[in-house]
Amino acid sequence: MSIHILSDDLAAKIAAGEVIERPSSVVKELIENSIDAGAREIKVEIRNGGQRLIRVADDGCGIPASEVETAFARHATSKLTSVDDLFNIKTLGFRGEALPSIAAVSKVTLITRARGEESGTQIRVDGSKVIDQHAQGAPQGTIITVEDLFRHTPARLKFLKQPATEASHIAELVNAYALAYPELRFSLVNDDRLVTQSPGTGKMIDALVKVFGIEIAHQMIQVASVQPQVDETTGQMHVANAIQVDGYVSPPSVNRSNRKQMLFFVNHRWVQDRTLQHAVIEAYHTALMVGRSPIVVLDIIVPPDMVDVNVHPTKSEVRFRDTHALFNAVQRTVRAALTNNAPIPSIGILQPHSPSPSASQLAIDLHRPITTPDDLDELRPQPPTAPSEMQSPISNLQAQVSKLPMLRVLGQIASTYIIAEGPDGLYLIDQHSAHERVLYEQLIAERANAKIATQELLDPLTLQLTPAQAAALESKRDALASVGFNIEPFGAQTYLLRAVPAVMKKSDPRLALVQIIDEMEQGEEPLEKSAEARLISSVCKSIAVKGGQVLSLEEMRELVRRLELTTAPRTCPHGRPTVIQLNVGQLEREFGRK
Ligand code: ADP
Ligand code: MG
Repeated sequence: MSIHILSDDLAAKIAAGEVIERPSSVVKELIENSIDAGAREIKVEIRNGGQRLIRVADDGCGIPASEVETAFARHATSKLTSVDDLFNIKTLGFRGEALPSIAAVSKVTLITRARGEESGTQIRVDGSKVIDQHAQGAPQGTIITVEDLFRHTPARLKFLKQPATEASHIAELVNAYALAYPELRFSLVNDDRLVTQSPGTGKMIDALVKVFGIEIAHQMIQVASVQPQVDETTGQMHVANAIQVDGYVSPPSVNRSNRKQMLFFVNHRWVQDRTLQHAVIEAYHTALMVGRSPIVVLDIIVPPDMVDVNVHPTKSEVRFRDTHALFNAVQRTVRAALTNNAPIPSIGILQPHSPSPSASQLAIDLHRPITTPDDLDELRPQPPTAPSEMQSPISNLQAQVSKLPMLRVLGQIASTYIIAEGPDGLYLIDQHSAHERVLYEQLIAERANAKIATQELLDPLTLQLTPAQAAALESKRDALASVGFNIEPFGAQTYLLRAVPAVMKKSDPRLALVQIIDEMEQGEEPLEKSAEARLISSVCKSIAVKGGQVLSLEEMRELVRRLELTTAPRTCPHGRPTVIQLNVGQLEREFGRK
């Protein structure tokens, strides 16, 4: 075949493929146009998962009659004129690609009336061809209707999922925008049924109630925004502080099995970004159970020139000039919010018959600040930039404020749980998780100071491993050495264990090591901690006292005393709770005294 230039129609369809992947991409582009147009109210309507029809109506500025046709031309935009503008973008759109792309793969009807114009315009475009345009009365704003999506590109049509699936993507999208723009009123109607509607009060918490329900919204923790600061010596805005982080994060106890409900906005633009996800997960540190993700809605405000939004046709990926500063700002802010709000899980929550607060009570609660001044006195965190926190990423929760009170050990239940009395009632402590936490912090501290204390074995132990275990061990031998295991190869799949971490005192080193190796092999990864922290938490799991083991009162006292001294006594390194509490108030309620 000779080289030839593609027809306009084919070129348009190819370009459209990049922008419009599925019905929700159309909704995204249209919503963004409405927001850019200054709309206060945005109504979305879909039929058959958006494939049959998508309609977005707004009360924005509208398009002047003389410009309506131009809006459908490729690279036609009212939002950008010079190259310099590209690095100072304050609108969601700027590429001038959405309308022509949508029109290339569907039938579009646009009705619009611009502010200050007497009459409106209707235009119909089918597969990039304008088939009709005439003046028509219309309310101020724009109503755009997209029908028979991908009719002209049957290959794409085949990739569409069930209408219900496509509709749920659209609902997710509308909800995301409702959260990022709480001052706007969004609604979504699917096949004549109102699916979601945001109140438009301007408060993100009200949108959260709509999107996640009152129960979850009530538990969400507000993230305090870090105001930009001027550096006193240079007079310039400090970069790290030029990043402002606003929004809400869930407490560790409210979590999900995937990251779909981790929503990030950069300058109100919804973005998919692994750095941001990672920063948040890191902020939860070990407080979150393995494989679980928090619910997060964060709007990160940065000076426009610090972020390049022109990375991808769908504009849902961005590039940051200083990823490091961004990571730190997000992690620090989220952690400060979390450490400020870390209650011990209370038994009352687990009891089915305990009176649950009524919706009206919750609604009232939502209006009070999340932390009351009383809480603040004892919960006041260290300043987020405290040097201790900067030095060691592992002692992340150093600002941990909900320390354990002094506890008096009373006994043991089922050879697994320690019962203790504290100033506010009864405490149950899981001896295994508690010991894991104690060991974990001990090893991390030893590691930070110099080197983990090791214990030479008088007689080296031989280890016979399976090929898979041997491979796992080989890949991690250096890491294991750094935490105190001295292991030498000794023939095929056989190893000599010469030294172990000193904390291992009582446990069987061979059993423990095999357990660690198995865990490495299965890749059970406690969150996205550093490989070393992961290894250390796995070491602790293998050597901590197990459930079912009888402990003397003395041993229990020692364990609880050491737990009290840890920085994050409430969870084990894998995120499971170490302590649950039944306070006096709950006891009184249960016994009908109140
Ligand atoms: P972009 O948003 O990147 O500028 P689009 O193809 O999405 O490109 O839209 C082209 C132009 O049409 C926009 O720049 C804007 O001027 C106009 N436009 C599109 N949708 C609307 C709307 N809902 N209200 C007002 N103007 C709109
Ligand atoms: Mg646009």
